[in-house]
Amino acid sequence: SPIPDYMQEVLDDCRNADGGAVADYIPELARADPDRIAIALTTPDGSTYCAGDADVEFSIQSISKPFAYGIALLDSGFDTVLAKIGVEPSGEAFNEISLEESSGRPRNPMINAGAIAAHSFMDGKNADERAERFRERMSMAAGRELSYDESVFTSELETAYRNIAIGYMLRTHNILETDPDDVVRGYIRQCSLSVTTRDLSMMAATLANGGVQPVTGRRLSGDRAVRQVLSVMMTCGMYDAAGDWMTTVGIPAKSGVAGGILGVLPGQVGIAVFSPRLDSHGNSTRGVKLFERLTEDMGLHLMEVP
Ligand code: GLU
Repeated sequence: SPIPDYMQEVLDDCRNADGGAVADYIPELARADPDRIAIALTTPDGSTYCAGDADVEFSIQSISKPFAYGIALLDSGFDTVLAKIGVEPSGEAFNEISLEESSGRPRNPMINAGAIAAHSFMDGKNADERAERFRERMSMAAGRELSYDESVFTSELETAYRNIAIGYMLRTHNILETDPDDVVRGYIRQCSLSVTTRDLSMMAATLANGGVQPVTGRRLSGDRAVRQVLSVMMTCGMYDAAGDWMTTVGIPAKSGVAGGILGVLPGQVGIAVFSPRLDSHGNSTRGVKLFERLTEDMGLHLMEVP
């Protein structure tokens, strides 16, 4: 098939876009090899095409947010979750301590405030149980048993002052109804899940497939929850560069500070890329380039008139 050759070519073209810097506010992430680069595509029939370092593990970080939101919708129901977490893009950085003035609700589930709240709406009595619930569901979506990166988890927990502050703000407004330290601990564990680009591509394809894992055929989510998740990814998924992303790439996507980006073209394809250096918005520099190139070549932009 010509697909692997094409992917290798795209990868080689984007390799020299090496601006930006590896995230270092989580000490363990600063140790990542900045030259890694990978791309993977999964079609609705479950075929995956990879190029580059697609089997290298890194932590999922914020790419966990849309999935945890989806699991929260499943476990606690739309009414409960929507009452506590908004769906308006904030245009702010991921770790902004910002809540809606009147209600104290986080603006959306893709910024940390909303993601910490979403974590608390997954089933489980405490951090470990919720993290385990998350790990199980994500393993089903990836099609293999995933595990947590203990050193990333410990490293982030030791320096999590800002997320802990957000947790306490959420508790003050009764958005969190339990111990904020425990919820933030669970959220940070969720972010430390180890994944490969290939795994993320399979997860993206599960969303592209309306919640059905393309290889096992197992339904992991209802259509409506998938639509909700993709909608917030579309408007809020790329930190404070969501508008840029929407106009240039034009598909729902979510990035993480370890350098991954997951994108979903509903009904058609799941895409994942990885490269650790980040631009000023916190998105993978080469990752953005890779997606721009794919959109151009394959006409993926959702607003493209066929
Ligand atoms: N665990 C990270 C944090 O909460 C995730 C950040 C990200 O990937 O945007 O700071």
